Amino acid sequence: MDTREQNREIGELLRAFVSRTVDFYEHIENEAVCRPAAEDSLSRIEKQAIPAGGRSVEEVFREMEQDIYSSTLLGQHPRSFSCVPSTMSLLSWMGDVMTSAYNPHASCRVNGPAADLVEKKLIRWMCEKAGYPEGSGGLFVSGGSIANLTALTAARDAKLAWEDRGRAVVYLSGQTHASVSKGLHMIGFCREQIRILPVDESFRMDMAALQSSVRKDLADGKIPFAVIASAGTTNTGSVDPLRPIGGICRKYDMWMHVDGAFGASALLSETYKKELDGIQLSDSLSWDAHKWMLQTYGCSAVLVRRRDDLVRSFAAHPEYLKDAETSEGGVEFWDLGPELTRPARGLKLWLTLQTMGTEELGRVVEHGCELAELAAGIIRKEPEWELLSGPWLGIVNFRYRADGSLSEAELDAVNQEISAEITDSGFAQIFTTELRGRKVLRMCTIHPETTKEDIRRTIERLMETKAVSDRRQEQNKSRTA
Ligand SMILES: *Cc1c(COP(=O)(O)O)cnc(C)c1O
Repeated sequence: MDTREQNREIGELLRAFVSRTVDFYEHIENEAVCRPAAEDSLSRIEKQAIPAGGRSVEEVFREMEQDIYSSTLLGQHPRSFSCVPSTMSLLSWMGDVMTSAYNPHASCRVNGPAADLVEKKLIRWMCEKAGYPEGSGGLFVSGGSIANLTALTAARDAKLAWEDRGRAVVYLSGQTHASVSKGLHMIGFCREQIRILPVDESFRMDMAALQSSVRKDLADGKIPFAVIASAGTTNTGSVDPLRPIGGICRKYDMWMHVDGAFGASALLSETYKKELDGIQLSDSLSWDAHKWMLQTYGCSAVLVRRRDDLVRSFAAHPEYLKDAETSEGGVEFWDLGPELTRPARGLKLWLTLQTMGTEELGRVVEHGCELAELAAGIIRKEPEWELLSGPWLGIVNFRYRADGSLSEAELDAVNQEISAEITDSGFAQIFTTELRGRKVLRMCTIHPETTKEDIRRTIERLMETKAVSDRRQEQNKSRTA
């Protein structure tokens, strides 16, 4: 096939695709949140071999549109409340399209000087938001997990001599994201070196436990080297006591990492950034732009108080890259993290920020927090329902508790049924999580297009599920019996 001819065809298909996509997003609230895969789609893909000879681009394009993209959980649906929903804006999508069209190699200045400058400016701006001083820096990575891994590597290398690694210990809480333990494992720490501390009644790391744990470890000849604080835990949105943790880290010469993958975006709101006070004391911070800054996936930042701490861990200078070392101080993005070839993940964020401005993004955060507060207010008024956490940073946990006559096991079962029922209905998606051993319904309400009406109608539907009405009938029966 003639490439030029094929490119013309691609252009036509894409033009139509773009306008269908924009239409789709205009009415996304009418779609089911979860669109299960059709069996025949899956079986067509299963049967399709990777062909020795190619096929027509139009045929493959149509197949993919129908069999792949039409079945997916729409995390970006305004009534998707499970996990951390996607807040993606079409601005970010537009940035994706432009960036992948030109495919800049964002590893260093020489390969894309302006893209490199944009990412450097964004990192500087995010460091400023975090309250980091001159000399700070960072890098765009694919997500919070890799941001945590990158920061933990820098912490290890800054605080521990090679021969001391075996005696090192690190502190997290029972609410810390699983990617932290995973990252610690990847960089050579075993389970016995990770202290999982209890949380207080508000799901924040218990400071007395941290103090006593550090003292005990020191007395036992261990080397406490890092505390991982969360600014917005994924379960409840709770923020660990950042300022006290900062104090303890200074006192014992430990690295303070803040996992703000979810919650660091609250720095954009004048009202909610107070919740993150103390974040400026940290040595490193993970901040996902694909969580609450309207970005499509693959856009997160790892920030460090001293850029040199990343350089120490990640700089390597192979001979074939010598000609490309042109940034000031000779430090390129490839010196700050594990990747060499890297897409310019920051450009879509630049497009979004330039178009919306930071104030509107701050309002997005406030809107999300207010919706969780609205949900909590509705639940508090219902005697058969109880609030179990928050509302903190756009997350609220609650459950159906009936009239108090059900066992814990029965309550777990009925709340699981409620979650399944609302999710299967396609109207909204709500998953359960576990808090203090109880199954609860968790709502993360951060999507900017979610309305108050969406929240009210969703909770109404929860209260009208068959799971709930069945229990009510049983209760009435036992009361009249
Ligand atoms: C989502 C999340 C992560 C993991 O981030 P990914 O972008 O999914 O890799 C880490 N920590 C917290 C607190 C999160 O909410």
